[in-house]
Amino acid sequence: MVFDKKEYNKKYKQENKEKLKEYSKNYRKENKEKIKEYRKENQKKIKEYRKKWNQENKEKKKEYNKKYNKKYKELVYNHYSNGVIECACCGEKEIDFLSLDHIYNNGAKHRKKIGKTISFKWIMKNNFPPIFQLLCMNCNFSKGKRKNNCKCIHQIRREEKEKRKQEEEKE
Ligand SMILES: [Zn+2]
Ligand SMILES: [Zn+2]
Repeated sequence: MVFDKKEYNKKYKQENKEKLKEYSKNYRKENKEKIKEYRKENQKKIKEYRKKWNQENKEKKKEYNKKYNKKYKELVYNHYSNGVIECACCGEKEIDFLSLDHIYNNGAKHRKKIGKTISFKWIMKNNFPPIFQLLCMNCNFSKGKRKNNCKCIHQIRREEKEKRKQEEEKE
């Protein structure tokens, strides 16, 4: 049998996945400055390489982004709904109908401040700021209407009902 180096390497990598991961992590930790230096010196080269890789692997990257976006989305949604993914207002559970909502309706202002659209990654990087909630499209739409003053019509009805109940109890 001919010794197949490529196959051998592949097998070795597979069998020692954790070990290699640990090793590379330690290496990065111990050589932080060296790596930083290298990156600085080879900035252009790295950028070009990355650009080339991106061009050649468009599909792969798309797939990769999709996979990670899904993962991030799940993490973020879980965080803002305390593990039960549903609309904070009406309880809609269909994830296709749900999206993140700025509690104080200041999304545009916030986007301007951080200078880009808010991604799941950004939210994670910034330790899940407590300015979001999970809302379904309907509740989101209703809350955004000027006449409703930052409240979903569900919420307004609930408050009306509560008020009526209190008045009835008074009588
Ligand atoms: Zn809803
Ligand atoms: Zn609602």
